Amino acid sequence: MNDQKDIRENCAVFGIRSSKDIFTDAYYGLYALQHRGQESAGIATYTNTNSDKGEINVHKDMGLVSEVFKGVYLEGNVGIGHVRYSTTGSSEIKNAQPLTINYAKGSFAMAHNGNILNADELKRILEGRGSIFATTTDTEIIAQLIAQEHMKTNDFIDGIKNAMEYLKGAYSLVILYDGKVIGVRDGWGFRPLVLGKKKDTYVISSESCALDTLDIKLVRDIKPSEIVVIGEKLESYTGKKHKISHCMFEYVYFSRPDSIMNEIPIYDVRKKMGEILARESPVSADLVIPVPDSGITASVGYSKESNIPYSEGLMKNRYVGRTFILPDQNQRERSVRVKLNPITSEIKDKKIVLIDDSIVRGTTLRRLIRILREGGVAKVHVRISCPPIRFPCMYGIDMQTHEEFIASKKSVEQIKNEIGADSLAYISLDGLIDAIGLPKEKLCLGCLTGDYPIKKAKQMKLG
Ligand code: SF4
Repeated sequence: MNDQKDIRENCAVFGIRSSKDIFTDAYYGLYALQHRGQESAGIATYTNTNSDKGEINVHKDMGLVSEVFKGVYLEGNVGIGHVRYSTTGSSEIKNAQPLTINYAKGSFAMAHNGNILNADELKRILEGRGSIFATTTDTEIIAQLIAQEHMKTNDFIDGIKNAMEYLKGAYSLVILYDGKVIGVRDGWGFRPLVLGKKKDTYVISSESCALDTLDIKLVRDIKPSEIVVIGEKLESYTGKKHKISHCMFEYVYFSRPDSIMNEIPIYDVRKKMGEILARESPVSADLVIPVPDSGITASVGYSKESNIPYSEGLMKNRYVGRTFILPDQNQRERSVRVKLNPITSEIKDKKIVLIDDSIVRGTTLRRLIRILREGGVAKVHVRISCPPIRFPCMYGIDMQTHEEFIASKKSVEQIKNEIGADSLAYISLDGLIDAIGLPKEKLCLGCLTGDYPIKKAKQMKLG
């Protein structure tokens, strides 16, 4: 996936409780999750965990983890963190997380990965009850809802459970409350959330790769609808259940290949996608070449299954940062060359299978194929390890309109012609499901099929 406007990752959350200061671990944990959001980062810690008057300290800013926390240190042995790419709410500092809420019963900090469908409706109701909003994020709506339900029930966990009754959409949350870290995963299980442990340190993280960085052992996934409380001991509660619908795109693209999700290693899934793609759409060729980095693991699988040698025929410039903006169309044409350059000695006169995980608008692939042809390639057969994306996502992934997707308007043959490939094939839906290894009923496939797990929300009333 290398279109000018990539499908962006959503966000990542991280929570940790230990007997020692956690800031450094939270920093490295977020560093490992940076691929899920590069716009802003933040950490909140709690000091005086044995006192009634604990204090929440927050540092957050726009930028990468390495930029945001330069020269910063927060004390405390409990904390949460967040990296963000905005899916709702604008990209500005007031919307950075963790978010702190102060209300009659105290305060808590919260970080969220996902997107709430009925956020506007809930906001209207909460405002009617006196809530005042400081941000434009759906995260604050969840936090205000929990605060109001806490006041009603007099119990924080009951407040979360009540809030879960009303929330429609994707939310993996970490909450810093009263010296505890609380992890919450929505009943659909759209976004991942895992629990790790080493001695007296417990971690909650969007992905297990952050645990590996800290040498923390992955214990298990936090289950859809589960509320895990890490205090003096570990407690687990169950909130509102729904039909399990794990996001298939976490396996295809978002998550790091070294993460394990819903007990399934992402690397294995992507490799298997390549193997299945090779069986479903074989072609006579000299080399299998990935579009780096998104096509690498599927290419390993395609090469293994087809016995066509794997080659790094394209070099990626790893120093092209997120601020890489080209001012005009001419320069945009050149942008692909700045990011990706073919190794002509490797590809000249060769028939290649070019592998990527998805095609968004097709513009980058078209330019890339042109560059490969200029480099002397004989044939370019494109293979894609995810079925065509035709529909928007409403669950926290930045692809919210049909117009963005070439496959929503054009057939595979038309796309092949538009990108200038000699052939084009996508993995089948059954092939994708087979590679993931979960039953179809437990996956969200909405952006592929248009069949979404959450039907249009009915008018609701808060109790
Ligand atoms: S619609 Fe697509 S991207 Fe969105 S949650 Fe479902 S599978 Fe994931």
